[in-house]
Amino acid sequence: MEKDNLYKKRHSLSHVLASAVLNFYPDAKLTIGPAVDNGFYYDFDFSTPVSEKDFTKLENKMREILKKWSTFERQELSEMEAKKLFANNPYKLELIDEIVKRGEKVTTYTSGDFTDLCMGGHVDNVKEIDPNSFKLDRVAGAYWRGDEKNKMLTRIYGLAFDTKADLEKYIADQAEAEKRDHRKLGKELKIFTFDEDVGPGLPLWLPNGTVLVEELERLAKETEAAAGYFRVKTPHIAKDSMYLKSGHLPYYEDSMFPPMEYEGGKYYLKAMNCPHHHKIFGSEKRSYKDLPLRLAEYGTCYRHEKSGELFGLMRVRCLSMNDAHMYCTEEQFADEFRAVNDMYLKYFKIFGVQKYVMRFSTHDPKKLGEKYVNEPALWKKTEDMVRQVLIESKIPYVEIPNEAAFYGPKIDVQVWSAIGREFTLATNQVDFAVPKRFGLTYVTKEGKEETPLCIHRAPLGTHERFIGFLIEHYAGNFPVWLSPTQVKIIPVRENHNDYAKKVASELRALGVRVDLDATDEGMGKKIRAGKNMKVPYMLVIGDKEIETNELTLEIRDGGKQEKISLENLKVRLEKEIKERI
Ligand SMILES: [Zn+2]
Ligand SMILES: [Zn+2]
Repeated sequence: MEKDNLYKKRHSLSHVLASAVLNFYPDAKLTIGPAVDNGFYYDFDFSTPVSEKDFTKLENKMREILKKWSTFERQELSEMEAKKLFANNPYKLELIDEIVKRGEKVTTYTSGDFTDLCMGGHVDNVKEIDPNSFKLDRVAGAYWRGDEKNKMLTRIYGLAFDTKADLEKYIADQAEAEKRDHRKLGKELKIFTFDEDVGPGLPLWLPNGTVLVEELERLAKETEAAAGYFRVKTPHIAKDSMYLKSGHLPYYEDSMFPPMEYEGGKYYLKAMNCPHHHKIFGSEKRSYKDLPLRLAEYGTCYRHEKSGELFGLMRVRCLSMNDAHMYCTEEQFADEFRAVNDMYLKYFKIFGVQKYVMRFSTHDPKKLGEKYVNEPALWKKTEDMVRQVLIESKIPYVEIPNEAAFYGPKIDVQVWSAIGREFTLATNQVDFAVPKRFGLTYVTKEGKEETPLCIHRAPLGTHERFIGFLIEHYAGNFPVWLSPTQVKIIPVRENHNDYAKKVASELRALGVRVDLDATDEGMGKKIRAGKNMKVPYMLVIGDKEIETNELTLEIRDGGKQEKISLENLKVRLEKEIKERI
């Protein structure tokens, strides 16, 4: 595949780094040095330890080299020649053996006085590389070939972009992302925690996090009720017979917790809500008049994720999903799918998600009956309908052939946070196979039994991932409707407490989440604490406020202060909370 020029610059810089390293550490053994998404790295076997303190001298050397080098000269070598050239380097010898085994040509590339075993992918001339557009980033340990049985090598990472400005922007964005890290803010804002006795990957939602969870559920319930969904509730476990029917067993067993033996049967923690919902569909005889039937549940699922892959709220073992399954006829499918898309757009607007794309995965007709369930007409029809809806609704999408699920086309929804980081939050799937496996049918107008289509959808993804995303997206400055504490009331002195209590109870009566701080800490300290917790509004109440009936409102967003009557504050809060602005 032809790599883009930035990729070539990055890989070329890995040669430059290797050459600079050899200048200071002539006995370092070179291994591999690919380009990566933000730059490049090179893995070395050093006899002396190297650290980030050595970066300045290495970077300076790299800049000198950039001035000297020009093109990369390719040379084809026989196995013998190559092995002679790299006789002192067991890593390169291993790579040469592999290249030969694959039947490929052994090639080296030379620039200046530096030659490396390499398959290519360089800039035409290193003069294209702006000497200020790269920076060595960090040192890390890396096992040779990623295998922990092998020797630990030293990996030097470099950042590299087309221009100095791009590099600086990337570094600034990274710093901002660190500030917004959901694990850091999740702790500071008391949103969630993990506990060894509970187990890894099993988050505990603290009171502030529970507010977020419940507000999201309230939003989903309102939206889904308006769209004609019914809510259901299902147990967290089920017998193996159901998962055998759904196909989760044995195909998905690796992702499930091991079973519990109980009363002679095997029970599994549920890894997906679908089979339970299918059972609800099948619990009574259905007619075309019941369709479309939309069953929704914030369902809790359990997944076996490897402990090394757990990551804050983003990769967990217990997750609550904004799930729903809609059962419909082929004729109803396009409208149902359109309504799902509209729901996404509504949510994107509420959360200020400006950049998003739908990755539409389709089947490959050549693989029907093996990779894909053998329903050629249904595949074509549903894919055409999905495509049509995406085009009509002007939703940006990319089509990815041959990536569909076994049982139907799939859409992964990617969104970008306010600082431009990408998250995959939600998936929609069309399912023609499973309703059949469960024997789900409805009676048509003509009195015939037919299998419905099923759409799986989860626009708000899981609480865990979505809240992780929101923490970063808002940098913890949640809009008023989501904020765990919406108003913090600060009486200046003890004699203002009664009035403050009256204000607090009037706001609470409206459903506003109020924190009345009547402790005897100083006012400055109370305000700082409120700011640290990113409370959107703080009300300071002293003599003047009580006399004039004008409260002093400290506003988080914009950092302004305002005088406002209690009545006007109530109107303002009610509007912001109700309209979720
Ligand atoms: Zn190369
Ligand atoms: Zn499902």
